[in-house]
Amino acid sequence: MTKKDNYHMDPETFRTQAYAAIDWIVDYMKNIEDYPVLSSVKPGDIRKQLPDAAPEKGEEFEAMLKDVNDIVMPGITHWQSPNFFAYFPGNSSGPAILGEILSASLSVQGMLWATSPACTEVETQVMDWLVGMLGLPKKFRSDTDGGGVIQHSASDATLCALLAAREKFSDGKVNKAGGRGNLVAYTSAQAHSSIEKGCMIAGIGTDNLRLIEVDDLFRMRPEVLDAQIQKDIEAGLTPFFVCTCVGTTSTLALDQVAEMAKVTRKHGLWLHVDAAMAGPAAICPEYRFINEGVEDADSYTFNPHKWLFTNFDCNAFFVADRAALINALSILPEYLKNEATNAGAVFDYRDWHIPLGRRFRALKLWFVIRHYGIEGLQHHIRKHVSMAQQFKRWVQDSEVFELVVDNPLNLICFRHSNGDEASEKILQAVNDSGEAYLTHTKLDGRYTLRLAVGQTHTEMEHVEKVWRLLNDEANRI
Ligand SMILES: *Cc1c(COP(=O)(O)O)cnc(C)c1O
Repeated sequence: MTKKDNYHMDPETFRTQAYAAIDWIVDYMKNIEDYPVLSSVKPGDIRKQLPDAAPEKGEEFEAMLKDVNDIVMPGITHWQSPNFFAYFPGNSSGPAILGEILSASLSVQGMLWATSPACTEVETQVMDWLVGMLGLPKKFRSDTDGGGVIQHSASDATLCALLAAREKFSDGKVNKAGGRGNLVAYTSAQAHSSIEKGCMIAGIGTDNLRLIEVDDLFRMRPEVLDAQIQKDIEAGLTPFFVCTCVGTTSTLALDQVAEMAKVTRKHGLWLHVDAAMAGPAAICPEYRFINEGVEDADSYTFNPHKWLFTNFDCNAFFVADRAALINALSILPEYLKNEATNAGAVFDYRDWHIPLGRRFRALKLWFVIRHYGIEGLQHHIRKHVSMAQQFKRWVQDSEVFELVVDNPLNLICFRHSNGDEASEKILQAVNDSGEAYLTHTKLDGRYTLRLAVGQTHTEMEHVEKVWRLLNDEANRI
């Protein structure tokens, strides 16, 4: 048996296979509504169809694509379906996919400016664009003391904010000597679990994270925050970090950032704003009220990979004082020293996040913004909100469903008036039908349905359909 001396895919074969892959993608886009939205496979169903060991001999691309159709697709929940209303959107788009393909082809490491200058500079510029597009404070721009950086996820962004604040409030001592367990962080009782996880990883400890009570709109209560901080100071602890939520995960509740800022300013703490999901709404001037008070924040994050047509992963993270961030995360071994870095003339984004290596994610975001333009993005965000608001009015006028929270954006929380069992049964039946997919939460101990409108190709007909399905099921019980 002779072995080949080159096993690589040659460029012309790649061209042919790439066209086949693109054809596959376009067919998927066109036929996406033929698939049941929620995958119904059981644990292990996919794995048992795969060989026990890796192939000894290389295989043809056609065989791989066939297995994607036969084995993988039944195990896919179709987040890109216009009938996907679960959790939060994770929307994508043509220009994002094209950017992703080019980025994969370049496969650069953007850890330093010097390791691929365009990877850093396009990112810096696009992040500055976002500051303008969302009406964020100028202090988040790179030509001030601040700046923006793309992170893997909102969880990473919040962790970085925690680390920057931790070093600032310990005079840089925790990095060197380890923590003493006296730093205390605060967030809403409705905050995302990533804040708690960040406190675990940053060595703050979950015992030192205070979950602050919310009001009847599920917003963190500023006076409770203030009182808790006071109490911790009196106990000899060091309050240092407040994470406020613009759009909580359960209900998209909008904390009053300006009120939070008053409290954090009074006590001199770091204010981080988690706008992971709701952030893109601010592209439309009429929804910019959600960011009132962000001028006083030290850091801000949102996810273009949720509701800005940019496929996962792409998180935007901004700080007002980049020195605080870099101070917490910078490390310069000999093998990474170079002229541009030494001269302080460039950003080296490896100092702005946890890993060393980083890929060229700015490319897809750049493509998305250039394809849609601000006008196009506004159009689609507006449309999502208006469809959700239409759904909200149907719920308000309904005899069987009731609205749980009145949210002005694109997440509607509602339930059946007969209670938990009815709501749960209806949700199950709609999801089992494969025609649409919604998820639930518990609010004040009660089972609550959530409808998140934000998929790229969701139109009014899809929202009408899910409303019809919900009512059909309600009539059956
Ligand atoms: C989705 C979400 C997160 C977590 O986002 P990842 O990017 O998956 O880490 C954090 N906070 C809020 C408010 C979210 O909606």
